[in-house]
Amino acid sequence: LSEFDLIRTHFRGVGPLRPDVALGVGDDCALLRVPSGLELAVSIDTLVCGVHFLPDCEPEALGHKCLAVGLSDLAAMGAEPAWATLALTLPRRDEAWLHAFAQGFSSLAADHGVALVGGDTTRGPLSITVQVHGLVPQGQGVRRSGARPGQLVCVSGTLGDAGLALLRLPARDSAAEHLRVRLERPQPRVALGMALRGVATAMIDLSDGLAADLGHILEASGVGAEIRLAELPLGSDVAEYVARTGDWSVPVAAGDDYELCFTLPPERSSVLGGLARRSGCAVRVVGEVTRGTGLRCLLPDGALWAPVETGYNHFPGAG
Ligand SMILES: [Mg+2]
Repeated sequence: LSEFDLIRTHFRGVGPLRPDVALGVGDDCALLRVPSGLELAVSIDTLVCGVHFLPDCEPEALGHKCLAVGLSDLAAMGAEPAWATLALTLPRRDEAWLHAFAQGFSSLAADHGVALVGGDTTRGPLSITVQVHGLVPQGQGVRRSGARPGQLVCVSGTLGDAGLALLRLPARDSAAEHLRVRLERPQPRVALGMALRGVATAMIDLSDGLAADLGHILEASGVGAEIRLAELPLGSDVAEYVARTGDWSVPVAAGDDYELCFTLPPERSSVLGGLARRSGCAVRVVGEVTRGTGLRCLLPDGALWAPVETGYNHFPGAG
């Protein structure tokens, strides 16, 4: 099989037929139509074997995750997913691997109406790059810079499940197998993100952990925040882990949750219940935006939690 055949065999017709795709996979470029009045939201992510996923990760789960992380970025902007492109670096041609990978990718693409409109394949250590394209009404993209003192800090879903999976799975802890789904098949909060347009004043998705990612909102907005750790939404495994070890770093600083963190004025908090119901995703108020800078996390007894480290740093020491 040539590279062209490989793309045609596994990646043609991934996702729905969209009328805004004038030309998809198979030419020098895709030709895409951005409707007037909408802005294009674009984001790119690379996943490297051994860095972003465990070497024993199923190819089908990997196909899901590499698109999910991109869709999570679109969700954090309030954008509606439209198109994706995919660059695959593979150590060898493996038809069964490619078939399973394409299945995972296609299934999530279909769920969110995303058409795969282009791709590239090369030989080398396993690495996957996905660029996603979404649409958002002009001026309505939710940026990181709109948080103001007195506003509420909210998060969706539960925190720390993926981090706990990363902690336990390498030790072959079979009791942690059910956490694997949260690590390897995150559900991007697209419906919630779109519903928060015009409601959230700032938003980000939690890829590197609450402390690091909320930190990006605080820096971009020129504010601080106070989080009450007792308010964090935790699944039963993480709650048990924290109760037993006193280690809050799993829900606060571990990455890969792909939940949304956002701020909104307190007078808008009455809409949260309805938004959560309509988008099928729980939302919890966990703290407030404050004057000043930096994040303060209060332990259940009111003492200040001192983080060991915040988030995953790909280039330690590089500032
Ligand atoms: Mg992001």
